[in-house]
Amino acid sequence: MRLVDLIRRKRDGHELTVPEIEFVVQGYTAGHFPDYQIAAWLMAVLLRGMTRAEIAALTGSMLRSGEVLDWSSLPGKKVDKHSTGGVGDKTSLIIAPIAAAAGVYVPMISGRGLGHTGGTLDKLESIPGFQVDLPSRRVGEILESCGACLIGQSASIVPADKKMYALRDVTGTVESPALICASIMSKKLAEGIDALVLDVKTGSGAFMKNEADATFLTELMVETGERMGKKVVALITDMDQPLGRYIGNALEVMECVEVLQGGGPADLMDLSLDLAAWMILLGERAATLEQAKELAAQLIANGAAFQKFCEIVRLQDGNENALHDFSLLPHAEHRLDIMSTEEGYVAGMDCEKAGIASLVLGGGRERKEDSVDHAVGIVLHKKTGDPVAKGEALCTLHYNSDARLEEARTLILGSYRISPELPAGNRPLIFKVMGDKTVGGKTTTKVAGQSQQV
Ligand code: URA
Repeated sequence: MRLVDLIRRKRDGHELTVPEIEFVVQGYTAGHFPDYQIAAWLMAVLLRGMTRAEIAALTGSMLRSGEVLDWSSLPGKKVDKHSTGGVGDKTSLIIAPIAAAAGVYVPMISGRGLGHTGGTLDKLESIPGFQVDLPSRRVGEILESCGACLIGQSASIVPADKKMYALRDVTGTVESPALICASIMSKKLAEGIDALVLDVKTGSGAFMKNEADATFLTELMVETGERMGKKVVALITDMDQPLGRYIGNALEVMECVEVLQGGGPADLMDLSLDLAAWMILLGERAATLEQAKELAAQLIANGAAFQKFCEIVRLQDGNENALHDFSLLPHAEHRLDIMSTEEGYVAGMDCEKAGIASLVLGGGRERKEDSVDHAVGIVLHKKTGDPVAKGEALCTLHYNSDARLEEARTLILGSYRISPELPAGNRPLIFKVMGDKTVGGKTTTKVAGQSQQV
């Protein structure tokens, strides 16, 4: 087999076989092929697409390029959640403890924030001492004793994705749905899970701006997971405005604690309960979704979920006291209220701009190697549908340096759309549920045929 022939075949729109895809992935991971050949192959995939069978083969090959974690010695289902990313999207810190308190094992591997979206690892690291890089042996011990462990991706998991993603980033090939699906699903399946809940975001702050694109990617991911023998349920959820009211790492930890203690904003609580319920159902700790939702709410009401979060923090070397006394979390030195220049209602937000405003304060990363300031961020006082008077505060910036303060101020002010009338109709928090029919989800759109390339 020669790589150039596989590039030509993909370029001409042919379907590659499982061994051919394996040859490309394993050869590249082992360093046998130069970047320029793989870049050409990736571009051929982007332009010609892949069939569902090819996507499953690519996912499988990428998955096998490194270590696949094995928790089969633990007596119960292992379930994770993956979000495609957004602004103020902090549900992992809430739902992992809820699901673990319900008896589901949650080996959660998360990422860091990049661009306008935040990352779970950065939020966790704002808790003093919290360790996200742990050896597999320690992850196993923590999972066994408390049911959940929240860690970063080690170099040994899906090395093929590390190399390919870096190449895609600089060759204009990130946008291929087939490549996105294989990249995300291979990493999730390498966690050694039985089931996965996907939270696919749509709206101005999401990777997929419209519902049709989000639905399409979701279909691919659900089908790929099912082909690999996993139960997958996907929720397509709103990211047209930030989730909750806090954006920024330590601020978001505080908001998660509020929700785990039964308070916090309604949108964050509602979505967290839904996602946790699906994890509980897929983890076979409840017979129906309704029972799973009731159990999730009960675990918040009786304090078990918050206690579980404290236990996770303690076991991962974080200062548990910071969850009881927020003065132990990082705080920014300065605050600036952003006033409305108009009177009316918040008709909508440009969520991506709000995320970038937090980034320029230092709360996010422009490049992977940048560091983040855990203390800074934005507290939203007004969200879509809220009435606002001229001169009233829309939000407060929490900042340590005024180097880019004006830029952040312009961005956040520009993210608000104020209209004289109350906007008609609310966007739903959850647009649709797709996935495993055996647990009550339903695939709401037709899955395209085998031979169609995407
Ligand atoms: N996130 C990933 O992990 N991979 C992609 O290709 C896109 C988003």
